[in-house]
Amino acid sequence: MDKTDLKSLTIEELKDEIAAIGEKPFRAGQIYEWIHVKLARDFDEMTNLSKALREKLKESYTLHTGRIVRMQESKIDGTRKYLFALSDGCVVESVFMRYHHGNSVCVSSQVGCRMGCRFCASTLGGLERNLLPSEILDQIYAISRDTGERISNVVVMGTGEPLDNYENVLRFLHLLTCEGGLHISQRNVTVSTCGLAPMIRELAKEKLQITLALSLHATTDEKRRALMPITDRYHLDEVLSACAFYHETTGRRMTFEYSLVGNVNDTDEDARELSGLAGRLGAHVNLIPVNPIKERDYVQSAKGRIEAFKNRLEKNGINVTIRREMGRDIDGACGQLRKRHLDEEHRGE
Ligand code: SAH
Repeated sequence: MDKTDLKSLTIEELKDEIAAIGEKPFRAGQIYEWIHVKLARDFDEMTNLSKALREKLKESYTLHTGRIVRMQESKIDGTRKYLFALSDGCVVESVFMRYHHGNSVCVSSQVGCRMGCRFCASTLGGLERNLLPSEILDQIYAISRDTGERISNVVVMGTGEPLDNYENVLRFLHLLTCEGGLHISQRNVTVSTCGLAPMIRELAKEKLQITLALSLHATTDEKRRALMPITDRYHLDEVLSACAFYHETTGRRMTFEYSLVGNVNDTDEDARELSGLAGRLGAHVNLIPVNPIKERDYVQSAKGRIEAFKNRLEKNGINVTIRREMGRDIDGACGQLRKRHLDEEHRGE
């Protein structure tokens, strides 16, 4: 029989579980604290539990702790990229970034991805499997332990489409932000989606105070389809109306992510149309100079073009930032480190 994944349980579920094995209720609180506050990786670290109880827990439960197989630290800005091996040998990557407002971790939500965005390295090998809530959490816990530093911001922007793993990601968000755990403020959590319209509506109904980021990247279905095949399933008007619903229901301002690709989506006309869409929703625009991957021939827009694009949005009253490139020297873009690792394994290195 499969062991129960203890780290994915809420405190209420853990209490039921502990009662069912005949232990006192306060044990549940102790175990929860060991897992989610003291970030224990092993039952033997739980030193205020008796040896007998620890053995009993080992028999029926698992803690799903990923093993760090690679870590690269940027010499430029201290950004760290981690590659974790999961219990079944799958690998996922996460990024640790230091900002003036605190430390941020970017987590993966799936092993691989099936959304097929043309410029993205994470999707090249397709989707392998969904990550469990515990496996998403553990990326943050492992990094927190490894750096010894507090993590105040989390972005679900690594490999995978979070809304394609909806139930697990939702549970992860609850565990991450609940009072008895790391208790990260919902306002400091961002979930990024390529635009699964029905799931955006579902998420809105949860009324979380997280920030939802839509990967827009183009302002017409025709242009967007060339970059993001998901456009065929959910047209822009459907996605944007789901975003409007999200904004109205949660009161949270949306972010539009817009990766600038040279000569593809960076004209003045594109900036004008983007201003219209962002203006209507009061959305913040985050411009990302595309990070070229060797499998495709997309190039970054020229520096001057990026500035002109930004200025045009600002003139139209749009709140816009250019994403600072972090860890340029360490395969910073989504899925690049994992991809390189898998390629090397394939070649038997
Ligand atoms: N599946 C989610 C999260 C993925 S990645 C989503 O689509 O939003 C987070 C952001 O990085 C997305 O906006 C994604 O489109 C973008 N991105 C991925 N690869 C990129 C690259 N090579 N250059 C620039 N942006 C990229």
